[in-house]
Amino acid sequence: MSRLSPRRSRTLPPSHTQRSPRECTNLLWTDLELYEREQRGMRIAATCKLTRKGQVWLVPSQSGHGRYTVSPDPEAPHCSCPDHETRGLKCKHLFAVEFAMKREQHGDGSMTVTQTVTVTETIKKPTYLQDWPAYNAAQTHEKEKFQALLYDLCQGLEELPPSKGHPRLSLSDAVFSAYFKVYSTMSARRFMSDLRDAQVKGYLHTVPHFNSILNYLDNPILTPILRALITESSLPLKTVEADFAVDSSGFTTSRFIRWVDHKYGVVRQQHAWVKVHLMCGVKTNVVTAVEIREKDASDTKVLPDLVNTTAAHFDMREVSADKGYSSVNNHEVIASHGATPYIAFKSIHSGAAGGLWEKMFHYFAFNRQEFLGHYHKRSNVESTFCMIKAKFRDHVRSKTDVAMTNEVLCKILCHNICCLIQAMYELGIEPTFWENRGSEHQSSRFAHFQGGL
Ligand SMILES: [Zn+2]
Repeated sequence: MSRLSPRRSRTLPPSHTQRSPRECTNLLWTDLELYEREQRGMRIAATCKLTRKGQVWLVPSQSGHGRYTVSPDPEAPHCSCPDHETRGLKCKHLFAVEFAMKREQHGDGSMTVTQTVTVTETIKKPTYLQDWPAYNAAQTHEKEKFQALLYDLCQGLEELPPSKGHPRLSLSDAVFSAYFKVYSTMSARRFMSDLRDAQVKGYLHTVPHFNSILNYLDNPILTPILRALITESSLPLKTVEADFAVDSSGFTTSRFIRWVDHKYGVVRQQHAWVKVHLMCGVKTNVVTAVEIREKDASDTKVLPDLVNTTAAHFDMREVSADKGYSSVNNHEVIASHGATPYIAFKSIHSGAAGGLWEKMFHYFAFNRQEFLGHYHKRSNVESTFCMIKAKFRDHVRSKTDVAMTNEVLCKILCHNICCLIQAMYELGIEPTFWENRGSEHQSSRFAHFQGGL
């Protein structure tokens, strides 16, 4: 007999109030974990290749190493992943296979996934249908639209004063080339013919040498410019986005970090990686704020900056985040902008802190389905990371810390421009940039770049 108790057959007590608060919270916590696994499973089913081999399925590991064997036998479902083997709970791979099997039953290859979760009653989640004509149009015109939008965006950069001696590459040319290179996902040398094409189309004054592009990417002065451009590129979607989600994820590099493990007396090594925290709009996946900190920086402390940056330009209604971001201060920061925080609580949490925290904790505890209805928007930030990594790779070519940060910021801006292109076809939005330029706001933003590149 399996240790796994299928979710559907589990019955909850008629009222949570008959249990002690501790029992009640533990129960909610397990439910929430299962819910999150289900969401992840749905994403795996949508983005990965699941192979059927007789009675079992092979599901690729999300960390990129090997595959897990999943047996969806309803009597004794099993998966070879550590999560299932150590905890005996239904893991994301089992959920993924369940979705894949439902999808196969359609037969016509249609991709509609209708999710039904049975807890005490049946909630039917909305089914999102892709607007295929708009999607096809956006994808087939993406590269040309990308260059035009990128050109417009770079025109807002104030040129640096001319230097003596060797003529300097203009800032707009340099930034355009850096972004377009990251968009192409090619090495700097192989990318040069794309750049010459861009010059023929009038998007570039001069074609920079490939080493200049790499040098620019390695320049710390570029970092604030790239961040400012991410914000600017999100503004055309100001009227569309009101609900936001926060999460973090890593981009790997080819550089190794080595250290001595004194306990076992061996040298260990690991790929260096960049940890990115971002906030995105849940409708279009546009990134409205990014923070890149040290790898071990706590998630909780990053949230206020992301919220404040976004709130400076957008009218916020909701912010959803997982339990890593749960803190009294984060609830207050979100509320200070007139928005409602939907942040999952940890099993050790109680409503004792009072104020908004307590209010949201009770909402979470006693109106769970309503709470989850808002909280599930958080999965859009995971999709955002998937989109960025699928299109522009989850790997960074650069070797230095500065270049690695700049390259990741470039990937995010490329993603934002793709979101704009999608919005042009799907929502009929005509993006314009630098609408409030000419004010001192603009000149102060770039005043500190005058140090020169
Ligand atoms: Zn598994």
